Amino acid sequence: MAFYIQKYGGTSVGSTERIKNVARRVAKFHMQGHQVVVVVSAMSGETNRLIALAKEVQENPDPREMDVIVSTGEQVSTALLSMALMELNVKAKSYTGAQVQILTDSAHNKARILRIDEDNIRADLNAGFVVVVAGFQGIDEMGNITTLGRGGSDTTGVALAAALKADECQIYTDVDGIYTTDPRIVPEARRLKTVTFEEMLEMASLGSKVLQLRSVEFAGKYRVKLRVLSSFKENGEGTLITYEDSEEMEQAVISGIAFNRDEAKITVLGVPDHPGIAYQILGPVADANIDVDMIIQNVGHDGLTDFSFTVHRREYENTMKILRDKIQPHIGARDVTGGDRIAKVSVVGVGMRSHAGIASKMFRVLAEEGINIQMIGTSEIKVSVVVDEKYMELAVRVLHKAFDLDQEV
Ligand code: ADP
Ligand code: ASP
Ligand code: MG
Repeated sequence: MAFYIQKYGGTSVGSTERIKNVARRVAKFHMQGHQVVVVVSAMSGETNRLIALAKEVQENPDPREMDVIVSTGEQVSTALLSMALMELNVKAKSYTGAQVQILTDSAHNKARILRIDEDNIRADLNAGFVVVVAGFQGIDEMGNITTLGRGGSDTTGVALAAALKADECQIYTDVDGIYTTDPRIVPEARRLKTVTFEEMLEMASLGSKVLQLRSVEFAGKYRVKLRVLSSFKENGEGTLITYEDSEEMEQAVISGIAFNRDEAKITVLGVPDHPGIAYQILGPVADANIDVDMIIQNVGHDGLTDFSFTVHRREYENTMKILRDKIQPHIGARDVTGGDRIAKVSVVGVGMRSHAGIASKMFRVLAEEGINIQMIGTSEIKVSVVVDEKYMELAVRVLHKAFDLDQEV
């Protein structure tokens, strides 16, 4: 007998028919004698609908009230799934995040889980119930409803698995595992049997939305056995996230390609080239709580240089304003330019460490397609480039092919 946390995403619970399908799957595990805690997302499209409703009333919705609204989507799914389980003669009980007591900090819309009260869930499991928990939400110390950021139900699942010491956390979604890249962009993408935790962390942070970044961080911290599977396929082993040398690893140099359309690029032109300039530009940006991702300072000429960096697209206008109003006059830069139609494309692989030449191959392949590289960033296990958004899909496809990711290893 095993103890599973099973998380079902929005598409998997997208209609009452699909919820009944999830109930049948869960019931099967339950009948086999396993203990199951199910985490559900809102029905697909529901969170977007709720956000749009809020924006019809308040242009910049109040963060606390926004959480009250968007958390309702998951609550609906929990009750429907519990009912569907009851119809199959399975004892089931729904919980909101607050009812479990998933305690978070008070950062509305992007809260972090601090602690989970296990008592209620344990008692129900021992009494033979399937417990159905609303993903994406919690409660802060003052009793305010909080949510964990888009895609946050993954994190609820992993956090519950860590707190309750489940044997495995299974993320059921609309693809049957982690692929070499998003199969919606590259139909030839292959499912990976395993992916290392480090690679998954990079892929999630570089834009692969298949797992929320925080869920991967959480899994690493508590060594949660984490698997991604399809809720539509009857069988299949999905993709297992591995830690160090625990399982046999696919020894590919590159294991995946991630992409991200969420960034914008800003360039400060004609900056005096002297010590402290990066601090003078990025200090006020950081003070405004704006995260900066890639940074480039060009080689100076005639005592002047250009300085570029990227921020999240939703911070673009705000950052431009800070630069134009506060920084440009202060440091005497010639101009501030920018664009939010860029995309970041990254190749990721733990095998890269010992292989020089990945970057140059990447640059050659992009050059052959006439794709201009605007920025470059590297780490031990990834190379990222910023390109014009309109070339993103082409870049992903040609790189996928050039690195033989469509071939079995
Ligand atoms: P859910 O609603 O179940 O949480 P998501 O839409 O958040 O599902 O995540 C699943 C989607 O992630 C897939 O439909 C796929 O398009 C996308 N995706 C992006 N990168 C990858 C990848 N490397 N492997 C698999 N799926 C990916
Ligand atoms: N429903 C939330 C969202 O759409 C959380 C989730 O699905 O994981 O982002
Ligand atoms: Mg998701």
